[in-house]
Amino acid sequence: MKNATKCLHAGYTPKNSEPRVVPIVQSTTYVYDNTEEVAAVFDDPTKSLIYSRFANPTVMAVEEKIAALEGGVGAMCTTSGQAATLLSVLNICEAGDSIISTTEIYGGTVNLFAFTLKKMGIECIFIDRNASDEEIHAAFKPNTKLVFGETIANPALTVLDISRFAAIAHAHHVPLIVDNTFATPILCKPIEFGADIVVHSTSKYMDGHAVQVGGVIVDSGNFDWESGNFPGITEPDESYHGLCYTKQYGKMAYILKARMQLMRDFGVYPAAHSAFLLNLGLETLSVRMKQYCENAAVVAKYLAQNDKVERVIYPGLPGDACYALAQKYLKGASGVISFVVKGGKEAAMRFMNSLKLASNEVHVADIRTCVLHPASETHRQLTDEQLVAAGIEAGMVRFSVGLEDVDDILADLEQAFAKV
Ligand SMILES: *Cc1c(COP(=O)(O)O)cnc(C)c1O
Repeated sequence: MKNATKCLHAGYTPKNSEPRVVPIVQSTTYVYDNTEEVAAVFDDPTKSLIYSRFANPTVMAVEEKIAALEGGVGAMCTTSGQAATLLSVLNICEAGDSIISTTEIYGGTVNLFAFTLKKMGIECIFIDRNASDEEIHAAFKPNTKLVFGETIANPALTVLDISRFAAIAHAHHVPLIVDNTFATPILCKPIEFGADIVVHSTSKYMDGHAVQVGGVIVDSGNFDWESGNFPGITEPDESYHGLCYTKQYGKMAYILKARMQLMRDFGVYPAAHSAFLLNLGLETLSVRMKQYCENAAVVAKYLAQNDKVERVIYPGLPGDACYALAQKYLKGASGVISFVVKGGKEAAMRFMNSLKLASNEVHVADIRTCVLHPASETHRQLTDEQLVAAGIEAGMVRFSVGLEDVDDILADLEQAFAKV
């Protein structure tokens, strides 16, 4: 099946007389005829359902759809993108380990990696996306367990050279984890370029309608965990009566460990109703992504020609620093455009306050056009050095082009610029 078909049909195939639409199974638990059967399910929870803290039929239909779209062997949904990133790391890292991440990542992920993981004894070594292979190789330590980057970085809008980072990670026998939130599997499938694990905030384009906060982890099934680097996956799990994930589940080892061990312990599993809403968004993801890209290309061109704009960052724009990478990795550059208004922070804020159609909100990738000021909002907690490293300037505006008629979006921009 192609993307558009998977969006509609993957993950749920009703049988004779069953509901056409994925049903909302809003139940915490599942009934069995006898205790022996319940015991058997505890021994191998992949066979049936026990408790909705870590598995639920509505959520699992969505997981299967996303795994199919990304080309992975399995997926696990979480209550937020942040939870997905956290669990994707904790699944293979513990106190005393280190990870490597590019600097141009989502602000929330910077906080998680630089501060919260540090308190948990996991060190993050940040590297410049443009560092040479030698420099990146030199950042590895014997305890490094993974490399992390974003396909299209939020909000720097730089494009990750996925194949290069995958090759470097694999040379050190560690996986590459890619946050594919902005691209979605419609515009890029990181697994095809060597990424081992893909994470998403489903709160963004996947949902698209701003009705649920969620995340997902997708396992490619391709990474070889047997290097000796990952005893948590290859050795018996004493918290699961000696279960050995690689032996028992082969290619599904990583994603099933995440569910059976971490989701069991942390319980950050979405409600069935949230998964139902996410599924509605996913059904139209393919058509929506095409239109976001089309609208954004027009808006980016308009901004590039506007003399009140210092600089436009949109990897789909010829001349953009990441244009060549976008051509290689993306089937479209998404609907998000960053630009720097001449006159710095004050001018940027005056411009933003003058917008009428585009709403000021802490969100992105919505069906409606929205705008935010990273330096004073989403990335407010970052130090000046971290802001520079994340590619954020004081006058930078992050403009998320929606699915309104593009002429109306341009008219709104025009009247707001007139007030700057
Ligand atoms: C929003 C976002 C996140 C965090 O997701 P939440 O669902 O808000 O927790 C992670 N990565 C990227 C790229 C994002 O845009």
